Amino acid sequence: MDFSIVADFFQKIESASSRLEMTDFYAELLNKTDLTDIKEVIYLSQGKIAPDFNGIELGLGENLVIEAIRKTTGYSKEKIMQDFLKKGDLGEVIYFFSANKIQKTLFKEVLSVQKVFSNLKRIGLSSGHGSQETKLKLLSELFNSANASEAKFIARIVLGKTRLGLGDSSIMDALAIIYSFEFPILFKKELNLIEENLKEKKEEKRKIETDLRIKQNLKELIESKYNIHPDLGFICFKLKEKGLKGLNEIEIETGIPIRPTLAERLSNAEEIIEKLGKCIVEGKYDGLRLQCHKNKDEVIIFSRKQENMTAMFPELVKGIQEQIKAEKVIFEGEALAFNEKEKKFYPFQITMQRKRKYGVKEKSEEVPLTLFCFDLMYLNGKNLMDLTLTERRKSLNSIIGKGKRIKLTDSILASDAKTLEKFFNESVSKGLEGIIAKDLNAKYIAGARKFAWIKLKKSYNDELNDSMDLVIIGFFKGKGKRTQFGVGALLCAVFDSIEHSFKSVAKIGTGLSEEQLKELNELLSVISLKEKPLNVVSEIIPDVWVEPKYVIEVIADEITRSPIHAAAKSENNGLALRFPRMIQFRQDKNPEDATTENELISLFERNK
Ligand code: AMP
Repeated sequence: MDFSIVADFFQKIESASSRLEMTDFYAELLNKTDLTDIKEVIYLSQGKIAPDFNGIELGLGENLVIEAIRKTTGYSKEKIMQDFLKKGDLGEVIYFFSANKIQKTLFKEVLSVQKVFSNLKRIGLSSGHGSQETKLKLLSELFNSANASEAKFIARIVLGKTRLGLGDSSIMDALAIIYSFEFPILFKKELNLIEENLKEKKEEKRKIETDLRIKQNLKELIESKYNIHPDLGFICFKLKEKGLKGLNEIEIETGIPIRPTLAERLSNAEEIIEKLGKCIVEGKYDGLRLQCHKNKDEVIIFSRKQENMTAMFPELVKGIQEQIKAEKVIFEGEALAFNEKEKKFYPFQITMQRKRKYGVKEKSEEVPLTLFCFDLMYLNGKNLMDLTLTERRKSLNSIIGKGKRIKLTDSILASDAKTLEKFFNESVSKGLEGIIAKDLNAKYIAGARKFAWIKLKKSYNDELNDSMDLVIIGFFKGKGKRTQFGVGALLCAVFDSIEHSFKSVAKIGTGLSEEQLKELNELLSVISLKEKPLNVVSEIIPDVWVEPKYVIEVIADEITRSPIHAAAKSENNGLALRFPRMIQFRQDKNPEDATTENELISLFERNK
């Protein structure tokens, strides 16, 4: 397929006025795409050349892209920089200069999806000596042959931000639209159930609702596969190849990360016992959540965001090889610095020093980590996710051999609030963050929070007794002394897990050190947007909108009703945080892992 077809659709998607319209355009594009190009089209629309867990990143620097624009359009660097400063988006810059080239192109070819993808992949893979020249050559080759709108999207993709607002959730919505025609054929029982539930409705309404529910059902089905195989290129390939039946071929495998289960929160021991009854209670270790895959002697370690972090933790790789008594296994735990002799847990900041590319060996000797394991999802060819936690934990216990790197989390069984509270206090006094109580009969719920796990964290003084994880959706420029840092305050949001949108809840200007303001400025200017993205809800308009990408941990004095924030808005009032302060960056979290709108509402109800 010609890349110009893709670029035309991207253009339409970018100009769509609603998420519904955007999803329809995207579904049309996927429908038009053949099996041979489908993976590539999906990755390109995500601004990637491979799923995240493959670790191949494009992320070209702006300077290199500017140089390629200069070489291929004939305009001077100064002119390009001027336009870039004005527009803030190199995609728009090359769009303009490409349309008004002052230099003739000699060898122009029609760009196919395969050609664009292959050059981008070679850019992503080239490293070491001479790689900058190679990247420049490969990119210039594409710019040379591209028309203005092709060039715009190629520039954005190599910079790692398509600005299309197409999240993974919208991509799955589009897939559900495309394959909904197969539902009545393959899921007769489910269709009968839907129709039975809607039989009281008038015909017109019934038709619309049935269609909606079919799509919801399908999205859930697709999502359940995405949760164990987070690669939409692969999922879409299977769908194109075999229709909905293709989904049956997607299974758990070592080397492919499973999306992690998430914890809900409650505010005291009584509430937890009331919700779960007899439960298992473990310490809440404040470190890095790691998902470990072992296939014979090969070990792969993934972060919570499914990044491959194997090279960062040589001592854990060795520990897993020596201590884990199973051929093929996927298990999870929290890794942190721990002093075995004094039974002392070190704070999160110490463990975070291990997230590095250089000096890994030295640091691993200076601050070795211990992995406290808490779940087992796969063992020797068997998917254990549908077993109860009691069964999974028993198996986990049986495969951990003696040694100091890999341990099982300490736990107790609690049937009453007093026992739970005692364990909570002991955990906090040992330096842990609190506890996590778990439903003994729950399955492993990949990629979601459904009260299978409930966290109880130690309180920060007498304020709101728990911190929140908020997503940055925009920033205000600094005033006075803060002008020099670029960023002065942040506009932050909670996550609406039903609509998959981000709703404003706080403006945060305090708690930010000069260092953090500078770092934020660097990170946020790369993801700045001209307009509010379609998945953001906010009436407050910041100086600069940003793509919802970064999560920060925040504490506040209280949650109050507010006419200006969009979170939990009904009638005139939403909810807002009073005196919010940033505690730290949570680079280990995805925006979808942030505090949800529902959690905010229940925190508000509890603290009223
Ligand atoms: P939070 O990040 O506050 O939502 O809390 C959930 C996180 O706590 C998990 O994603 C893990 O990284 C971490 N954690 C620490 N100890 C445990 C444990 N025993 N079981 C499950 N998760 C744990």
